[in-house]
Amino acid sequence: MSIEKDSICCPSCGKKGTWTPENKDKPFCSARCKLIDLGEWASEQHRIPGPPVELDDSDSDDDAGNEKR
Ligand SMILES: [Zn+2]
Repeated sequence: MSIEKDSICCPSCGKKGTWTPENKDKPFCSARCKLIDLGEWASEQHRIPGPPVELDDSDSDDDAGNEKR
């Protein structure tokens, strides 16, 4: 009987690793690589072209002009 481990290449750093049931970060070699990859993926997703967000800059805090006695 031999323990079979699927050897993998980490998509993030390309390091060779092994897939084990305990590896919750697969297919990445480590949680760090997973975060890196997820971060890159997220940044890509955030670059979706869309309508420009118009910030409501009507900060009418200037309404206190009649406060001088
Ligand atoms: Zn890695």
